[in-house]
Amino acid sequence: MGRINVTKSSMPSFEEYTNELRPVWESRWLSNRGMASKEFETELKKYLGCENVWLFANGHVALEVALQALGIKGEVITTPYTHVSTTNAIVRNGLTPVFVDVKEDNYTVNPELIEGAITEKTAAIVATHVYGFLCDIEAIDKIACKHNLKVIYDAAHAFGVTLNGVSAANFGDAAMFSTHATKVFHTIEGGIVTYKDAEMFKYMRCLVNFGFINEEEVVRIGTNARMNEFEAVMGICNLRHIDEEIAKRRLVGERYIERLAGIPGIKLIEPEKGLVWNYAYFPVIFDGYKENRNEIKAKLEKEDIYARKYFYPTTNCFSCYKEQYGSLDVPVALHAAECVLTLPIYADMTVEDADRICDVILR
Ligand SMILES: *Cc1c(COP(=O)(O)O)cnc(C)c1O
Repeated sequence: MGRINVTKSSMPSFEEYTNELRPVWESRWLSNRGMASKEFETELKKYLGCENVWLFANGHVALEVALQALGIKGEVITTPYTHVSTTNAIVRNGLTPVFVDVKEDNYTVNPELIEGAITEKTAAIVATHVYGFLCDIEAIDKIACKHNLKVIYDAAHAFGVTLNGVSAANFGDAAMFSTHATKVFHTIEGGIVTYKDAEMFKYMRCLVNFGFINEEEVVRIGTNARMNEFEAVMGICNLRHIDEEIAKRRLVGERYIERLAGIPGIKLIEPEKGLVWNYAYFPVIFDGYKENRNEIKAKLEKEDIYARKYFYPTTNCFSCYKEQYGSLDVPVALHAAECVLTLPIYADMTVEDADRICDVILR
């Protein structure tokens, strides 16, 4: 029996990719928003049902640029139960992260704790849609309106997710999708920002290209964050198959649910009503089970199965943040980080593989 990794990238056929690549190859326009990028943007807008998208070299830099483009200054309310990218993007913009705890049910920011963390310096909320489960959009919106805060979602996990038919691209002032090779939808490396205010376009365009507004003038201190054309071609191809890929993930996810739901000491996250989930990750919380998370992980590894402690540790506990934020009062996040294991899930995984994994866990 072969090795099972936590994920495996979805790929178009080699022929599909090379056929799509040919005109780019012949044009020798390899980056700086060429024909493939423009086509990819058009297709993305259709798929995501949103007005404004911008393409980036990766998800992290996309989030950094979105925060800069929105002109955020001061304090940002966020959670430590996320990829370190979220926290780094805040701090690298010269902003102060103010951590609040997450909700028990899906580990996204607890809106009840947000108002208590607001000061006169608070400018924004940066919240992660964890594992493709969405934050409490409505509650966050209300608070943001009342206190005049910007809302930016780290939607790196949420490509293809909809709530009552509306895609995750349409919530908040901006949303960032990572299209890294390990995500549900990928462009090898890449990122996408969707945004509400069409005016933001000016800032994105200049910030991804060092701050140039024309050949001779740099108006803002930008970076180099451009997606290249080979990546855009991968995006065009993968977007054609995304719905089938998610449907294949669903078969694996449903088998996990069938086998693991209701087992004492094992908790699964349930999608809220109206949510169409993308099965981006399959988190299982071992809390009071006969073996703890680390023991289960080790047991799986003995069988050549590689699950992931994700998110572990919480970002406030990394050595670069520990001194300042280590002793935070975020008990739900800290507990989740000790108990959660994301099981392998990808489109080409078989239901038999899921059974093999469940057998090891339940043995
Ligand atoms: C993957 C990921 C990122 C970073 O995206 P990259 O494309 O790898 O830079 C940020 N936030 C979350 C939640 C992620 O999962």
